[in-house]
Amino acid sequence: MRRFRNGYLILILLASPLLLSGFRQNTSAYIISGHLRKNPSDPSWYIEGVNILVKDDNEVLAKNTTDSKGDFELILPSVKGKHLDFFATGLGIDTLLIASIEKSESSSFEMTFYIPGVIKRNVLTRVVCPKCKRSNHVYEIWYGDAPVVTTRVSKSGATTYSPIYKGKYQGSCIVQPASYYCDRDKLKF
Ligand SMILES: [Zn+2]
Repeated sequence: MRRFRNGYLILILLASPLLLSGFRQNTSAYIISGHLRKNPSDPSWYIEGVNILVKDDNEVLAKNTTDSKGDFELILPSVKGKHLDFFATGLGIDTLLIASIEKSESSSFEMTFYIPGVIKRNVLTRVVCPKCKRSNHVYEIWYGDAPVVTTRVSKSGATTYSPIYKGKYQGSCIVQPASYYCDRDKLKF
């Protein structure tokens, strides 16, 4: 009997945070205090007046613009998915993924982002996509005057255009903060 009671108590203790967090997700807003900072490896990009978007399963949950220090606040009404993707966009900046995080348990948190985003590599020193955490569909972006777009014709005869040529993603002639492109997620980082 005593063992049974202890087991029951442990079960309640384990289950209660899950119940509480599930409840909170549906009722409370998330408040994120964000800080956009220059990446020391490439400090040429500005941090003021940059639009920051946060997406959950490709739905824009909130957006705001950075102040003169690069600070911003985002208030998210509700979060359904497990991940939050943060994008920066603005004058001279194509939409760029700056972070992809697991949803936090706490309803308000602080985060520092960098522009360009911090590039992570795996043990084989290959660049890893911040969203899918894999390297096998990641291409370096090549900025040049004459982007080469290749044509692919499928068995059914449908024509698709690919910006990937000779193992590199063909960017515009205007250099952007994004250095890599993930073809799985179709995003630049
Ligand atoms: Zn990816």
